[in-house]
This record gives sequence, structure tokens and C-alpha cells, in this order.
Amino acid sequence: MEMLKQRILQDGRALSDQVLLVDSFLNHQVDVALMKACGEEFARRFADAGITRIATIESSGIAPAAMTALVMDLPMVIMKKSVSSILKDGIIQREVFSFTKNAPYLLTLKTHFITPGDRVLLIDDFLANGEAAFGGIALLEQAGATVAGVGAVIAKAFQPGMEKLRAAGYRVEALAPVKHMAEGVIEF
Ligand code: 5GP
Repeated sequence: MEMLKQRILQDGRALSDQVLLVDSFLNHQVDVALMKACGEEFARRFADAGITRIATIESSGIAPAAMTALVMDLPMVIMKKSVSSILKDGIIQREVFSFTKNAPYLLTLKTHFITPGDRVLLIDDFLANGEAAFGGIALLEQAGATVAGVGAVIAKAFQPGMEKLRAAGYRVEALAPVKHMAEGVIEF
């Protein structure tokens, strides 16, 4: 997606060969118009996949997932990274290792919001090692859904997540696949 790649080149910053900072339009401040364009692109790429629900992981997946759900006119469900006192019943959890926090957390889904037989499109901001995506997939499948696609706004294609997901049989679409990064260098 050319518009997104240009924005990453203009406003993103490779902090190292592993970490890309895009907090001015995706992770902290959010460019809603750009997220809408991402939603339109996901909707176009997954138009033939029979999707019935969008799922995402809080918090940075929410903006692109919500826009995709809006464009596709589908419900959206958020998987949480922490459990509040009001989220007790009907939850399932899976330990996921956080790329950015370098520590595990319990990914949590309320199964009530998944209908068995749902064909889910799982959207997230980044795909790196695939930990978050595999954790989300495990919960969605445990709840009775089929994961019909995984959409990443940005995938660092030199890290193993995308290939591992594809090798496991999942369809993955990345709007901006990054081929190589070094401090101050971003290549698609
Ligand atoms: P994974 O679970 O695939 O290893 O990493 C994906 C998750 O880690 C995403 O949900 C995202 O929040 C975070 N993440 C991974 N790599 C980056 C990165 O380079 N920059 C930012 N801002 N977040 C990242």
C-alpha cells in the first residue's frame, strides 16, 4: 500500500534493525484518515474470504481493525492484554510474549463475542515474531471460530512471524511489508 509506505518513510523511525517507531500516526497519535485507507485496503484484499467478524488486540490494533469493520460492515471484538475486575465470566486466556515489553502477558477473549462458525479476520498493527497473532488465533479457534485471515498494517518480513503463520496455513496480508531495517534505514 503505497500511501502507507510513503508515510512510514516520512514519519517512521527505525530505532534499530528490530524496532520501528511509528507513534506519530499508528501507535500513539493516530492518523484516522490513514487508518480508514488501511481498512479499505484490508476489506479489498479479504473481500473473497467470507469474513463474518473482525478481531484485534488492544490497543494499537483497534484503529485499523475498527476501520476495517466499518468498511466491511462487520462486528469487531477486542482481545485484552489485562483482565479487569468486571471481565471475569466466560473468558479464555493464553500467555503471549510481548515484543515491545519483552515480557509475557495474558491475552484474554470473552467467548460470548465469538459465534461458533465465525470466519474471523485478525488485524494487528505489527507482525514481528507472530507471538500475538498465534496467541489470538489459538483463542479464536478455542472459541469455535475459523481464522480466515491475518492482516498486519506493518509486517517486519525479516522476522519469522509472517512465514510461520503462512507455514501453518493461515492467509496473511501485510499492507507494508518491511524487508530490511537498520538504524535510520527502512526498506520495503
Ligand atoms: P509479535 O507478537 O508478532 O512478535 O509482535 C507483534 C506485536 O508487538 C504487535 O502487536 C506490536 O504491538 C508489537 N510490535 C512488534 N514489533 C514492533 C515494532 O517494530 N514497533 C512497534 N511500535 N510495535 C511492535
